[in-house]
Amino acid sequence: MPDLYIDGEWTAAAAGGRRDVVNPFDASVVQTVDEADASDVDRAVRAARRAFREEDWAYAPTRRRADVLFRVAQLLLDNREDIARVETADTGKTLTEARMDVEDVSNAFRYFAEIAGKDAGRVVDVGPDVLSRVVYQPVGVCALIAPWNYPLLQASWKVAPALAAGNTFVLKPSEITPLSTITMIELIAEAGAPPGVANLVLGAGATVGAAMTSHPEVDLVSFTGGLATGRTIMAGAAEDVKNIALELGGKNPNVVFADADFDAAVDYALDAAFLHSGQVCSAGSRLIVEDSLHDRFVEALAERARAIRLGDGTDERTESGPLSSAEHRDKVERYLEIGRSEGARLVCGGHRPDDPALSRGFFLLPTIFADCDRSMRIVQEEVFGPVVTVERFRGEDEAVELANDTRYGLAGGVWTSDAGRAQRVASRLRHGTVWINDFHPYVPQAEWGGFGRSGVGRELGPRGLEEYQEMQHIYHNLTPQPSGWFKG
Ligand code: NAD
Repeated sequence: MPDLYIDGEWTAAAAGGRRDVVNPFDASVVQTVDEADASDVDRAVRAARRAFREEDWAYAPTRRRADVLFRVAQLLLDNREDIARVETADTGKTLTEARMDVEDVSNAFRYFAEIAGKDAGRVVDVGPDVLSRVVYQPVGVCALIAPWNYPLLQASWKVAPALAAGNTFVLKPSEITPLSTITMIELIAEAGAPPGVANLVLGAGATVGAAMTSHPEVDLVSFTGGLATGRTIMAGAAEDVKNIALELGGKNPNVVFADADFDAAVDYALDAAFLHSGQVCSAGSRLIVEDSLHDRFVEALAERARAIRLGDGTDERTESGPLSSAEHRDKVERYLEIGRSEGARLVCGGHRPDDPALSRGFFLLPTIFADCDRSMRIVQEEVFGPVVTVERFRGEDEAVELANDTRYGLAGGVWTSDAGRAQRVASRLRHGTVWINDFHPYVPQAEWGGFGRSGVGRELGPRGLEEYQEMQHIYHNLTPQPSGWFKG
């Protein structure tokens, strides 16, 4: 079966392009898929426009769309194991995590199905002769572009609200990890989305992604990915004044006070830094520890980091997989060099594993750099790998100052047993999500997104639906009379 989905049909790329999808565990080819070009994007956008105008979707009762989303949520659970295995082969992440991702994706569909019709807008009181309503309308045709670290999850945070609000879309997963997204589109079709509502194109960002974001028939671009790409997309969207939502990177502080529960804080600092080999936008890659606790904490963290079991994601004993691609590992290795040359102290890791069983995959050992300071690039730039930097602080004010000294502002953690301090520090952090005595959880009911250069707009929560809605004021004069303004 061909891999592009346009106007309700599975179709090959017009120019016959193909691309190998590689398993990062052993560099084997998992599958070869169709590679679109700008002409395929044009077909897909036109199909989405047609469906927006003609199909029983954009202006159908909300219930119709919610039913489709509920069915997708169930189909995802029914196919959880197969999808998780595809995601593991594509990304290298552990099956345990991939299974959790599928459940989270199902929850996102269910959440947006539930809230789709909850808010019908408001009636504005202008007096008895006027019915004045502020209502929500779909934005139109959406270009949705997703990254490779959580391929299905990040796509679902766009697809589910876009559908709930009555939009049609063209979706592009990362060229590195398209496989689970193909399955999701199959399930959306099976759940009853009309032809042209959900369209899928595959291919490189610079060609296919750029053709999507510059297409004049696209009304909204929603993008998750790196800062540099986000800038390009934002500049491109200016041409047609498209609506835009950007979920970009992070350099997320994890602040540990000396009165924190030691074992829990070490355990979560490990998760924060090394889950999915640190390829998490909200990774706690910048550890900031109170001076009096620092040495003991770093020692305990390093002992645990050295024990992380790297391996094949399908092996239930594996705790962390490889990096997503050879190119990405090269980039992270350049940061290891930068860290060393800046004078950061390498506590553990810093190179590829010696285990011959891992030699074909794109692995790197969990790495800790201590004695870091905020002037270092390794502390300021998003590495997006299994690398954590450690800084020291004395007192609450310095902790806040360091944690906010970043151009990003996606997420952060605070560890302390003093509830007053926890709340005080949390509200001073300039980050979109703050965890207290925890790290990484998110829930579909709460907005996700960044301050500063971590992005524009929010996903999840009621605001995550509003991103896909236009507000419209409908003013109805119930007793029209001549106005008498012009006397002639
Ligand atoms: P990336 O920016 O390289 O690519 C993301 C997507 O954009 C891919 O589908 C890619 O093909 C496409 N793309 C690339 N160039 C494009 C262009 N010129 N025009 C249109 N599309 C283009 O990012 P990545 O390496 O896939 O993902 C890692 C980044 O994503 C990290 O910075 C990470 O922090 C970020 N991220 C953020 C969140 C969040 O919620 N804020 C979540 C996950 C990942």
